[in-house]
Amino acid sequence: MKKILFVTSEAHPLIKTGGLADVSGSLPKALAELDQDIRIIIPNYQALKATESVRFLFSLRVDNRNINILETKLPDSKVIVWLVDYPTFFNYPGNPYVDEFGEPWVNNAERFALFCRVVVEVAMDRGYQDWKPDVVHCNDWQTGLIPALLSLEHDRPATVFTIHNMAYQGLYPVSDVALLNLPGQLWHPEGLEFHNHLSFIKGGLVYSDFITTVSPTYALEIQTAEYGYGLEGLLEYRKDTLGGIINGIDLDQWDPNTDTYLPHKFSVAALDQKLLNKTELQTRFSLPSNEKVPLFGLIGRLVEQKGIDLIMDCLPEMLNMDLQFVLLGSGDKVFEKQLQDLALQYPDKMALKIGYDEGLAHLIEAGSDVFLMPSRFEPCGLNQMYSQRYGTIPIVRKTGGLADTVTDTLPESILNNTASGIVFNEASASSLLEAIKRALILYSIPDSWKKMQITGMEKDFSWQKSAEEYLALYDSL
Ligand code: ADP
Repeated sequence: MKKILFVTSEAHPLIKTGGLADVSGSLPKALAELDQDIRIIIPNYQALKATESVRFLFSLRVDNRNINILETKLPDSKVIVWLVDYPTFFNYPGNPYVDEFGEPWVNNAERFALFCRVVVEVAMDRGYQDWKPDVVHCNDWQTGLIPALLSLEHDRPATVFTIHNMAYQGLYPVSDVALLNLPGQLWHPEGLEFHNHLSFIKGGLVYSDFITTVSPTYALEIQTAEYGYGLEGLLEYRKDTLGGIINGIDLDQWDPNTDTYLPHKFSVAALDQKLLNKTELQTRFSLPSNEKVPLFGLIGRLVEQKGIDLIMDCLPEMLNMDLQFVLLGSGDKVFEKQLQDLALQYPDKMALKIGYDEGLAHLIEAGSDVFLMPSRFEPCGLNQMYSQRYGTIPIVRKTGGLADTVTDTLPESILNNTASGIVFNEASASSLLEAIKRALILYSIPDSWKKMQITGMEKDFSWQKSAEEYLALYDSL
């Protein structure tokens, strides 16, 4: 049995801003189910919603500040959660990274540097809890200083650093660095320094014993200039201690046979019930009810990463085809406005909801025939997995986790029954349009379509499989 300290800045359902929270809420549970002794450690934000009881555990003095460590459980699980309680930094409204107005907290470098220092104390058991982890598993830049600081300790735990998105690095101007009082031996271009900035993520990339990212393809992509943001050289240098492990999905929450958000549950054995959700979805979006017309769906952040600009370029032509399109998301205000204008122009073809709506997301996955996910980059991505589980054919760009989880429909994959979606290469509107046309042709052949649906629905996207890979990695360190 391994002792694992899982360090994260968000974990569903305690606190969530994105995909990192989904992983941090699911992977520790899956590891606990494999009989591992795992604890999560996370800052005690004001917005954090603990449902289990919270008790005081111990105090630490770090950087001349008094820190309390509180203990609770991850809701509906036995996974222990340690909360780093320091109200001066964390007891504010807003989310973990930005204030109520969406501006990054001005003292983010100080906040997460303190969090990292506290974790190091806990990892070295300087709170005298008689619990010292074998492995400290860090996630994203907010935890990047931990492998760096631990590298200076004797008899330290092994460290793993997982990259969930290279686009966020925690870069701060040199003027902030003095404030953080970091050990001088970490400050050089092969250490935490990056073009005259302090780079939190480099702490993880340089000093961890092993780096993982959330899909095998993304692990290769970040070693190239296109995806590496200037850190591709370092990542290439570490290629023997860098690998990808695909995220799982929460099979309890995303099961079309038990999903409480769905008016009509369905399964491989009762696939015809999926159509009733399609009708419900058309009604919900005030589109004409029509079982036959192919219905395309999209859910997500409306930002360039997700290829929304490619969709915008395709839409005029797309909306002249015989199809319907529903969209749920929010993000870039320019995209939001352009999409709303188009929906007004084509009320019988396209409808959208701007905002975040968990229930509607489930209905879109269930009621659509095709799901669009033309991301420019995608470390792992979840929606393409939900789609396959819900018998909805995803159209994805061949990048990151999309390339690893969707099998393109080609003569060979049709023959050996592995085809589960449509994959295109180039990040261009014309390639996306071609993929959409391919989808329409396949949709017109009901037998092949159904076969693809079933292939997707029967795939194993469980966390158990991924947790076993992480465990094998911990064992190897
Ligand atoms: P990312 O983490 O880059 O945003 P992922 O596909 O990995 O993308 O995860 C996004 C998650 O958030 C998915 O579970 C998706 O369904 C959900 N989501 C995104 N936008 C919305 C929205 N507007 N309403 C409901 N769920 C959303």
